Amino acid sequence: MELLKEKIRQEGKVLSEEVLKVDSFLNHQIDPALMREIGKEFVARFSDEQITKIVTIESSGIAPATMAGLILGVPVVFARKRKSLTLTEHLYSAKVHSFTKSETNDISVSKDFVSNEDTVLVIDDFLANGQAALGLIDIVEQAGAKLAGVGIVIEKCFQPGGEMMRKSGIRVESLAEVRSLSNGQVQFVGEEAL
Ligand code: 5GP
Repeated sequence: MELLKEKIRQEGKVLSEEVLKVDSFLNHQIDPALMREIGKEFVARFSDEQITKIVTIESSGIAPATMAGLILGVPVVFARKRKSLTLTEHLYSAKVHSFTKSETNDISVSKDFVSNEDTVLVIDDFLANGQAALGLIDIVEQAGAKLAGVGIVIEKCFQPGGEMMRKSGIRVESLAEVRSLSNGQVQFVGEEAL
């Protein structure tokens, strides 16, 4: 998605060989017009699926997921991150190791909001090792719902999450595919090295 790649080129900050900061439009301040275009693109890419619900994870997945949900006319559920679980009976939960924070969180979704009648599109902001997406997929499976696929705003293709999921038959659609963050530069898949 060219508009998104251009925004990353202009405003993305390469923090290390592995971490890209996009606080000015996705992770802290949000660019609503860009989010709307991202939502449209997810909807177009999954137009062959009868999606009934979008599942994401707080907090940075919520903006793109909400835009897709608005366009599709379906509800958006965000998994909550919690350090300890107390009342677990009415929750689906999974463990997710955070790539950026190096901590493991339990994530959970109320059983009220995903059921075996749903076809779910999972959306997240970044794909690195795939832990967040796999945790969300685990929750979708616990609910007995059908997984339409995973929509990612920015995939870092040099990390293993995308390949691992695609190899296991999961449909992953990423709107910007980053090939490398070496030398402080963002390089996208299909671009020549400078
Ligand atoms: P994974 O679970 O695939 O290893 O990592 C994905 C999660 O970690 C995303 O939900 C995102 O919040 C965070 N994340 C991973 N890599 C980056 C990155 O380069 N930049 C930012 N801002 N977040 C990232």
